[in-house]
Amino acid sequence: MRVLVTGGAGFIGSAVSRHFIADLEHEVVIVDKLTYAGNLASLAPVASRDGYVFERHDICDVAAIDAIFAKYQPDAVVHLAAESHVDRSISGSDVFVTTNVMGTFTLLEAARRYLASSRKAADFRFIHVSTDEVYGSLGDDGLFTETTPYDPSSPYSATKAASDHLAKAWQRTYGLPVIVSNCSNNYGPYHFPEKLIPLIILNALDRMPLPVYGDGSNVRDWLHVEDHARALGLILVKGRPGETYNIGGRNERKNIDVVRQICSWMDNFRPINHSHHDLVSFVTDRPGHDRRYAIDASKLESELGWRARETFETGIEKTVRWYLDNADWWKPLRDKVYSGERLGLVKA
Ligand code: NAD
Repeated sequence: MRVLVTGGAGFIGSAVSRHFIADLEHEVVIVDKLTYAGNLASLAPVASRDGYVFERHDICDVAAIDAIFAKYQPDAVVHLAAESHVDRSISGSDVFVTTNVMGTFTLLEAARRYLASSRKAADFRFIHVSTDEVYGSLGDDGLFTETTPYDPSSPYSATKAASDHLAKAWQRTYGLPVIVSNCSNNYGPYHFPEKLIPLIILNALDRMPLPVYGDGSNVRDWLHVEDHARALGLILVKGRPGETYNIGGRNERKNIDVVRQICSWMDNFRPINHSHHDLVSFVTDRPGHDRRYAIDASKLESELGWRARETFETGIEKTVRWYLDNADWWKPLRDKVYSGERLGLVKA
């Protein structure tokens, strides 16, 4: 299968590209603009393999995207390109609307034009990769299912919700074979250091304060990125057009407990003359901070036979070790792109 992967130089897109090429032997054509979050070093493990193509383009560039479809004649699109950081969406939402909404619209229209003139129409798939944040916040009980009403809180999740609606409308109105996936918070290797887990690991390594928003009791449902990549590989071949699949690993954790677990691994792997727990620092909460996310993934499990392989305990240990062993990957980012400063406070 030849798959067009947008955002393939990002955190999840690179895991998907590595998995599709190395494990599933798909051909992968990556389209990525290489924003601050895109990094070709994340593709190094597969860049010299057969079946790897990289094209640097903006998904909003209609002519470039039409040309990519015409040149490569893909069997499927897995659309991950997006602005993805909630804090950045609070202080600068424009690029989120442009990339997440207009970029998705551009791809859906390009796919429609391509299928109108292609022999691939019967088996083509367009997987639109989204987030559980479109459902808003849960109270202490309950889980997000595929029928939970949308109620996004942040500019990021509002633009992802808008793009999900476009993708579903293109399926219903034009018959484009779209599948939407909504996944919980990912973690794992090659994660850009602005996100909670890599930020805490790298600050701990530098003996800097470990910022925890509010009282740390907000709950996220963590999924190892390679489990997400495996789920998307299955959805690509077994998912039904017009359907939505929630993806999550049943790993709900309070933010403070995630931070404490990382501190304990750092005490273990890199002991210093005091505990890393002493570095925890509670800071002003994120505006509009959703209280709790939790995914019911039983549809994906029962219909497609997917199971998460990593528990949070196995995955977080591997992730801490990966950062300790891979300074070559993150050091240029910490030095030149993002050094740990607070993002996303509302300006007057
Ligand atoms: P990321 O920020 O790490 O990567 C995004 C990639 O998209 C980067 O390589 C960037 O260069 C590229 N990109 C951005 N704007 C572009 C444009 N206009 N044209 C072409 N390429 C562009 O994001 P991620 O965490 O890997 O997330 C990937 C997708 O998965 C996103 O759609 C996100 O909403 C979704 N998602 C993320 C999570 C999570 O926990 N990270 C959870 C569920 C869903």
